[in-house]
Parts: sequence; structure tokens; C-alpha cells
Amino acid sequence: ERTVSLTHFKSIKLQHVFFKYPKLDKYVLEDINLEIEAGKSYLIVGLNGSGKTTLIKILSGLYEPSSGEISVDGVDVLTYDKNSYRNNFAVVFQDFIHYPMDVADNIKFGRYADKDNNSKMYRAAQQSGAIEFINKLPDAYETQLQNEWSEGTEISVGQWQKLAITRAFFSDAPITIMDEPTASLDPIAENEFYLGIEEMIKSRTCIMISHRFTTAKLVDKIIVIDNHRISECGSFEELISREGKFKELFTLQAEKYNLGDVVYEA
Ligand code: ADP
Repeated sequence: ERTVSLTHFKSIKLQHVFFKYPKLDKYVLEDINLEIEAGKSYLIVGLNGSGKTTLIKILSGLYEPSSGEISVDGVDVLTYDKNSYRNNFAVVFQDFIHYPMDVADNIKFGRYADKDNNSKMYRAAQQSGAIEFINKLPDAYETQLQNEWSEGTEISVGQWQKLAITRAFFSDAPITIMDEPTASLDPIAENEFYLGIEEMIKSRTCIMISHRFTTAKLVDKIIVIDNHRISECGSFEELISREGKFKELFTLQAEKYNLGDVVYEA
């Protein structure tokens, strides 16, 4: 089996992808047709249980489709070594775990080949904004959740998520996946975090899942999953100007947070 690097890929295509979990007889994803283009950014939205996480697990090679094809520049990914395909994706999870060491060491942790590459680490921290708190010590995961604004040597929850993004920069993975990166953040921490991902969105292929629509206008394309299928795919301007699921969800959220008309300004 051949190895594959997506450093210079043009696009990943999903064609007629269906997926069901073993033992369940219902499809979680049905007839997914999607093109992920290099350098672009995507936001996947949809209700709980609609299949968003499953979709990114399939895209990143963690799960194989029940049927249908995934190809990179026309070549079926099944012809490549699985691990080498997966290594092209940096995944930033909601519950990113850091270690009892300073921020700089957390960024480098686990990347043995680059363990001593401090200039690369500083570059990654510059890109995400983590450079501002590079010498601090992140506290343990549980403590962070209980105490969002701990002072002194500890870092805030927003900074802590920024650290996760820094690790993605440091990893050199051509594609970054973020699954609900801001779910546990308050609005201030969320805003701080977004300053860090703007650079990620600009400089790398980026796929994000979020309940919140804060990044809807930052990304190139929004993918709407409804009833286990892609119901819409397009830019914010395209989707907000038509009567579809995106507009429905966006309007609900705008009402919930009392955002008024401001959010509609492109
Ligand atoms: P979303 O990310 O949109 O909330 P998921 O992709 O996590 O949706 O889940 C889609 C559906 O698949 C849900 O009904 C969920 O219960 C089911 N599901 C998720 N993971 C598993 C699993 N490991 N085994 C069985 N069913 C699962």
C-alpha cells in the first residue's frame, strides 16, 4: 500500500457515500456528495445526531464508508495506506487534554521528530496567538473547567483551546478539523479563541463543526446536514438569501441570542 501526502492535493471528493454503524440498520449518512478543496475553509452545521461528527470521521479516514467512494485528486483513498492518509489531518477536539508542563512543551508534546524544534514551536504560537502566554503553565483539565478565569501561571479556557490550535499548526498537517471547538467557552473566551483560528482558516484547509454560527461568515463554504443528507452547501451569502435549513437555523439562533439585525450584515 502506498503512502499519501496531502501537502499538494487539489481536492478530496466524496461520491455517493453512505454510512451506517454496525448493528444499527439505519443509515447515519445517506448519499453524501462533497468536494473539499485545498486551502478552503468549511463549516458543518446541523442538529444533534444529524451525522456531522460521523462525516468528519469518514473524511479523515477513521471510518470507512458502507458504500460510495472517497478520492484524492481522482485516486480512491482505499489504495493508500490508512495511517498515512489519516496523518494528513490534525484534529482539534472539544476536550483537548493538556499536560502538566508549560505551554511551549504542550505544543511540542508527542511530536517526537520536532521535539527540539523551538523556532517552529514559536512560529506556530505566533500564528495562533498563543505566544502571549507561552511561558504559562496550563492547569489540570478539571480545574480549568471549574475555574475559567484562573490567574497567575494558569491559562484561561479560551487560551487553552488556542493551545489546541497551536498544536495543529505545529503538526504541519495540511488539513485541520475542529469538532465543536468552542462548545465549552463563554462569549469572551470564544472571541479570544476565534482570533487564533482566523489565521488557521486563512492559511490551511480547515473543516469545522459548530453549533454556533460565529464563524459562518469567516468560512468559504457552509455544509448543512439535515436528515442525514447534505441539504445545502454554499457561502454564507448564498445560504442566507434562500429559504432553506441554514436560514432557519441561523434565524433561530439569532433570535435566541437576541442578536437582532446585526448578524445579517455580511
Ligand atoms: P452529530 O455530530 O451531528 O451530533 P453524530 O455523527 O455524532 O452526529 O451521530 C449521528 C448518529 O449516529 C446519532 O444518531 C448517533 O446516536 C449515532 N452514533 C454516533 N456514534 C455512534 C456509534 N459509535 N455507534 C452507534 N451509533 C452511533
